[in-house]
Amino acid sequence: MGTHGDHAVVMGAGMGGLLAARVLAGHYESVTVLDRDPLPDTAEPRRGVPQGPHGHTLLPRGGLSLEAWFPGLLADLNGRGVPVITDDADEIHFEPLGHHLTGTAPGTDHPIHVPSRPMLEHRVRAHLARAPTVRILERCAVDGPRTEGGRMTGVRVTGPDGPFELAADLVVDALGRGSRTPAWLGELGFPRPAEDTVTVRAAYSSLQLRVDPGALTEKMVLISATAGRSSGAAIFRHEDDMWDVSVFGVRGHAPPADAAGMLDFLAGFAPPHVVEALRSAEPLTEPDSRTFPASRWRRYDRMSALPDGLLVLGDGVCSLNPTYGQGMTVAAMQAEALAATLREGTRDLPRRYFRAAAKPIRDTWHLAAVADRAILGDTTGPLPWPIRALAPLGDTFFGAVAADPVLRERFLEVFSLFSPPTRLLTPAAGLRIARGALRRQQGRADTTQPEPRSGASPVRSRPPMR
Ligand SMILES: Cc1cc2nc3c(=O)[nH]c(=O)nc-3n(C[C@H](O)[C@H](O)[C@H](O)COP(=O)(O)OP(=O)(O)OC[C@H]3O[C@@H](n4cnc5c(N)ncnc54)[C@H](O)[C@@H]3O)c2cc1C
Repeated sequence: MGTHGDHAVVMGAGMGGLLAARVLAGHYESVTVLDRDPLPDTAEPRRGVPQGPHGHTLLPRGGLSLEAWFPGLLADLNGRGVPVITDDADEIHFEPLGHHLTGTAPGTDHPIHVPSRPMLEHRVRAHLARAPTVRILERCAVDGPRTEGGRMTGVRVTGPDGPFELAADLVVDALGRGSRTPAWLGELGFPRPAEDTVTVRAAYSSLQLRVDPGALTEKMVLISATAGRSSGAAIFRHEDDMWDVSVFGVRGHAPPADAAGMLDFLAGFAPPHVVEALRSAEPLTEPDSRTFPASRWRRYDRMSALPDGLLVLGDGVCSLNPTYGQGMTVAAMQAEALAATLREGTRDLPRRYFRAAAKPIRDTWHLAAVADRAILGDTTGPLPWPIRALAPLGDTFFGAVAADPVLRERFLEVFSLFSPPTRLLTPAAGLRIARGALRRQQGRADTTQPEPRSGASPVRSRPPMR
C-alpha cells in the first residue's frame, strides 16, 4: 500500500473511474473519486451516464475482470436477482448466428451475468466504498487542472460547499466521452492526441418493461445489424423481471422514439414470440433516444511526450460502437494494464501505461472495425491486412461459424474479448471458413434481409451520447 505516493485522484465515478480507483488503492496511501452527479444508494440511471438506460451487456471477459478486482461481486449481483445465464441453450438468442448459444464464458465454466447498467455500477461502487483508503465524493464537478512546471499536481473542483483544490501525485481522467485531457494538454503546452475514428451514425431508442415471469425462456436477445439491414436490437432480462429493450439503427437509420413504434420496428426482424411477449409487458419508463456518431480512439500511445501525473482510462481513451457491447470490458482491460504498469513503478508512467493499454484496445478496435466494415462499408480507415481480410466475408463468415462448432467456439472467444481477432486467422480456421462457404454456395439460402420499411426516421433529432 502507498508505495507510489500519498494521494491519487480519479475524475469520474463511471465504470472506468471505479475500476481505476480500485487499482490505485493498491499503490497510493489514499484515493479520492470525484463525480459531479449525486450518486444514489439504489440502482438507478443518472444524468452523467446518459447511456445508462440503454441496454448494456457485460461481456464474460469483463465479468471475470470485475470479479477479480471485487471478489464476491458476481455472487452479490446474483443475490440481488440479477439473472445468470446457464448452459440451457434457450437463454441466449444471438443473430447473425441465427440460433441459441450456451451461456458459459468460452473456455471457462463461468456463467454470464446480466445486470442492468445502473445495478452493476451501484454494486461496484458499493464494493469500492468498502476500501478504507478510498473516498467517493458526489456532487463534485472537476473544473480544471492544478499544474506546476508542466506536470499535473491536482485538480480544481466545485463541490456542494463551493470551490476547492485537491493536491494529487496522480490524476486519472475517467470522464468518459467528455474527457478534459485533450484541452488540458494544450494548457500544459503539449499537443492534442491524434484520433482514429469510425463513422457509425448509430441511433438508439430504449425503454424498460416488466415482462411476465415465464413469458420468455430467453434472458438475452442480441440481433446485430447486417450488411443488408441497418437495424438491430439488444434485449436483456435484468433484476426484478425488468427488461431493457434497445432498438437501434446504424448508417443514419434511426428507430422510432415511441414505445409502440419501437415494437413495430422490432417486429421487422426479431423472433415473433419475443415481440409478442414485449407487447403484453408493463412499461416501466418512457423511451429514451440518443445518437452515437462515431467510435473514437485517442492515440495517447503514439505521443512522444506526455505530462507527468495525468492518465486517462475508459471512454476518454477509446469509445467503441456500442452495438458490440465492449466498452465496460475494454475499460476493465485498461485497468488491468494500469495495474501491470504500476507494478513496475512510476518511472515514465504515462508513456508505459498508454502503450500497455493500447494492446487490448487495439485488438478490440480491430474486431469492431471488422464488423463495422462488414456492416457499415468502408468507414473504418486503414486496417492491418490480415484483419482486413475477414471483413468482406460478412455473411459467408457467419454462415460458416453457425454451422461449425469449432469455429463457433473460437468466434465466441474472440467476440467475448478472451482472444484477439487473429485467433480467427489461422490456416485451420481459414480452411473451415472456406469449407463453410463452399457448402453455403452449394445451396444455402441467403439470410440477408431488406431494410425495414416503416418507422425509420432521420438520426439528427436525437440528443447525442456526447
Ligand atoms: C448506447 C450505449 C450502449 C452501450 N452498451 C454497452 C454494453 O452493452 N456493454 C458495454 O460494455 N459497454 C457499453 N457501452 C459503453 C459503456 O457505457 C462505457 O464504455 C463504459 O461505461 C465506460 O465509461 P466511462 O467510465 O469511461 O465513462 P462514463 O460512463 O461516461 O462516466 C463518466 C463519469 O464522469 C462524470 N463526469 C463527467 N464530467 C464530470 C466533471 N466535470 N466532474 C466530475 N465528474 C464528471 C459523469 O457523471 C460520469 O459518472 C455503451 C455505450 C452507449 C453509448
